[in-house]
Amino acid sequence: MHDFKYKGNSLYCESIRVEDLSKKVATPFYLYSYKTLIDHFRKLKKAFRSINPLICYSMKANSNLAICSSLVKEGAGLDIVSGGELFKATKSGVSPKKIVYASVGKTQKEIQQALKIGILFFNVESEAELENINRVARNLKKDAKVAIRINPDVEPKTHQYITTGRLTNKFGIDFRTAKNIFLKRKEFRNLKINGLHIHIGSQIIKSAPFVSAIKRVANFVAELKKELIDLEFLNIGGGLGIIYKDEKPQTADEFAKAVLPILKQTGLKIILEPGRFIAGNAGILVAKVLYIKKTKAKTFVIVDAGMNDLIRPALYSAYHEILPIEHRAFPRLRSGQASIEHRKKVDIVGPICESADFFAKDRLLPRINEGDLLAIMGAGAYGFSMSSNYNCRSRVAEVMVIKNKFFITRKRETYNDLIRGETIPSILK
Ligand code: PLP
Repeated sequence: MHDFKYKGNSLYCESIRVEDLSKKVATPFYLYSYKTLIDHFRKLKKAFRSINPLICYSMKANSNLAICSSLVKEGAGLDIVSGGELFKATKSGVSPKKIVYASVGKTQKEIQQALKIGILFFNVESEAELENINRVARNLKKDAKVAIRINPDVEPKTHQYITTGRLTNKFGIDFRTAKNIFLKRKEFRNLKINGLHIHIGSQIIKSAPFVSAIKRVANFVAELKKELIDLEFLNIGGGLGIIYKDEKPQTADEFAKAVLPILKQTGLKIILEPGRFIAGNAGILVAKVLYIKKTKAKTFVIVDAGMNDLIRPALYSAYHEILPIEHRAFPRLRSGQASIEHRKKVDIVGPICESADFFAKDRLLPRINEGDLLAIMGAGAYGFSMSSNYNCRSRVAEVMVIKNKFFITRKRETYNDLIRGETIPSILK
């Protein structure tokens, strides 16, 4: 599943002992395993090899340039959602012809930039946006390729904040409106509307919701064919779930087996947009224990990372496994877990002034001491990319390990970075 493993009492990332690394890089920091990242990409590529899809890694999961360019080198395209991601995508070495652009709120300027760069297509989320892209393309004397994002109204059985394919969500266009758009497609003279897109949510662990959504879209493709409307692309989005705790998510092979027969029927070029599946288990957040605070109700383990560094527990009540970087004063089972009698129930919390600033609640963990290092696992996706400067905390460093070498792929921010661009109006001075 990943390349963060114990050798003796020490946690290693590939061939590097994490404790050794933490003497060179100040905590907290994100640590990525190149091998884990690439292995996940290859698993998906292999599972779908019979149709040779374009796999556009979803940059929002983790847009570090080293991560993106590692995947681009493996043949990945990129799924973007903003002008900023477009800018970073161009720096990653990806061909514009492998960039797809979603988002319900693309601005005029973002559309212009994407058209000038020549991306593969836009995933369009409303009629108003369609008109806007048409207008911008006309002004630039260009044609824009467009896929209509369908909202298939399926229940993906995941957290409500990462559910995107119900009609109550802001994403996509219902089938009936989409059909009308296709029927009047000639009115959009500067658009080539030749694809469909779905993305029903994230951290979906069973294939049934995907199958149900893809079936509905495949039927729609057939319905359009009857109207002599031929498409080129079907983008089935991302959303594949991963193991954070004890989930049993579908494997890449199981997913492919479930959806390939329907995809093949469509005869379209297939695009996938996975983010979490590729990056999630390829990263951890390394934090140091600052204090142990015992109250009548709880034992709090206060670490130097906070919800500004990894917001998933606060935002989604997400579970992240937490492991000691070194097993010292307690015996350990083969699995890397401490034996039961040496565990204690603790809350792992950060230094931020919010009660939502936690990484674990009432978690049974091996005895932890001040100064210990902890690994917050499964933090490679929606970790750094959702981090902020809240409480004026500098965003942490990102480090990538490739076999026995490590690379700082993003420097820790300095205090000066915190005031970059800020000014005090002269009349206040
Ligand atoms: N595609 C779109 C349009 C998305 O909105 C997202 C995530 O929100 C993704 C792909 C990636 O999802 P995941 O990381 O679950 O694979």
